[in-house]
Amino acid sequence: MKRVYAKEEYCLGCRLCEVYCVVNHSKSQDIIKSHKLEEITPRLVIESKGIISFALQCRHCDDAACTKACITGALQKDSKTGEVTYDQEKCVGCWTCIMACSYGAIRRDESGQKVISKCDLCGEEESEPACVTNCPNGALVFEDREE
Ligand code: SF4
Ligand code: SF4
Repeated sequence: MKRVYAKEEYCLGCRLCEVYCVVNHSKSQDIIKSHKLEEITPRLVIESKGIISFALQCRHCDDAACTKACITGALQKDSKTGEVTYDQEKCVGCWTCIMACSYGAIRRDESGQKVISKCDLCGEEESEPACVTNCPNGALVFEDREE
């Protein structure tokens, strides 16, 4: 399956990927309104130390620990697409998946709801996700690689 991969050698830590992830998951689809009027947690986060920075998001692991840890079945591995899917309606905010993910790719939602936030690949299987399209430096790619 195609996944988003970070190329840390090109990342400047500008966080535009976070910005456009929020826009793409907003009702308004507007860069100003989505940040000022809607409370949306970006589904990826930039990790940085010194001059090193890179985008961290769900890797849609083949053997996804979060799906096994989830106590309600809110996280599932789609057998057709390979995506680790998330159903917010089933989430009870126990944070078990956050502890189970060894990459630290699952975060608490910051909008006040007791749910999680994780990458959904923008619902794209073929076209490019928002973070990849809007990275000005080519620091994110959407590729099918042999793991
Ligand atoms: S938009 Fe690209 S360069 Fe900017 S922080 Fe995100 S990955 Fe790095
Ligand atoms: S693929 Fe889409 S949902 Fe996932 S981090 Fe990028 S913009 Fe956000």
